[in-house]
Amino acid sequence: MIVVMNPRSTNEDIGCVVKLLNAMGTSSCVVDSADHKVVEVMNLSDRFDRSVLENAAMVDKVVDRAEPIHAGGRQPHEGTSEVPLGSRATIGGRKIGIIAGPCSVESQGQLNEIAAAVKEAGAVGLRGGAFKPRTSPYSFQGLGERGLEMLALAREETGLAIVTEVMCRDQVPLVAKYADVLQVGSRNMHCSLLLAAVGEQDKPILLKRGWSATLEEYLMAAEYIMQAGNRNVILCERGIRTFEDYARNTLALAIVPEIKRRSTLPIIVDPSHGTGRTHLVPPMSKAAIACGADGLLVEVHRSPKEAWSDGSQSLDLDGFRALMEQLTPIAQACDRALK
Ligand code: PEP
Ligand code: MN
Repeated sequence: MIVVMNPRSTNEDIGCVVKLLNAMGTSSCVVDSADHKVVEVMNLSDRFDRSVLENAAMVDKVVDRAEPIHAGGRQPHEGTSEVPLGSRATIGGRKIGIIAGPCSVESQGQLNEIAAAVKEAGAVGLRGGAFKPRTSPYSFQGLGERGLEMLALAREETGLAIVTEVMCRDQVPLVAKYADVLQVGSRNMHCSLLLAAVGEQDKPILLKRGWSATLEEYLMAAEYIMQAGNRNVILCERGIRTFEDYARNTLALAIVPEIKRRSTLPIIVDPSHGTGRTHLVPPMSKAAIACGADGLLVEVHRSPKEAWSDGSQSLDLDGFRALMEQLTPIAQACDRALK
């Protein structure tokens, strides 16, 4: 059980609630975050009387543990919050934001060619991994800081906002120095220490859904970031693990309208990791926009067959251009704009 304090409550008020709980033989733990002042009730004694707390002026509400607290929780009148994507674009407004680029940064030439093409086609963000979370330690692990420097140069050339992954707490200052948006990947969605660390800095966060995380666990991961002080969180559905094996993952698009119902956070879709198959990327991109996604994260390579990672799910430059053309009328039909 959690006692949510009135937003204007003082430390003395919190002390009062702790005393009330003590008097009822109940221990407690105070959680003071950027968004909530909360007292967690640790055990319930026979003398515990919930109405004592509910009637206290400094208490906003008393909620059962099953009822989660969301800083991004949506009231019926609220819309989606807009998160900056560099200085020229946002995610979450009327305009749908497309972030495209290679799975991994391989060279300056590779990156610049892809960046120029996706920009020309209408993308507002350039994705590319410099630190790569690979399944095998023997696979290419990314160019590290050299890759980040290449991304920064591509931004200078194109004006595209840079989205790139940070894998651990130690990397946060370095990646934040180069990136416009820090990506926390599927494998790290549960890493609360990393979530807190990216929450303590100012750059927006692209938080990918853990591949076996429930919607509630996902929202709670976002909560870790917001609780640390950073409310600029973009969610990203990237597919979950199921028994299916025709695709790399099962893209769970129903989460998009469900997130829209429960949260003010914008949500984009990654049809590349979500399917693992190039031919499935265009149809699932269209479906994502049609069901209300605020943007897409798409892997694009100048020569997918030669890509150092994830070529089998990457569009080539022509494929991406064609997709952008096909998405335009779908966005319009949903009262959104693409370019
Ligand atoms: C990626 O975007 O390159 C990536 C590794 O994605 P995910 O964390 O969703 O697997
Ligand atoms: Mn990839």
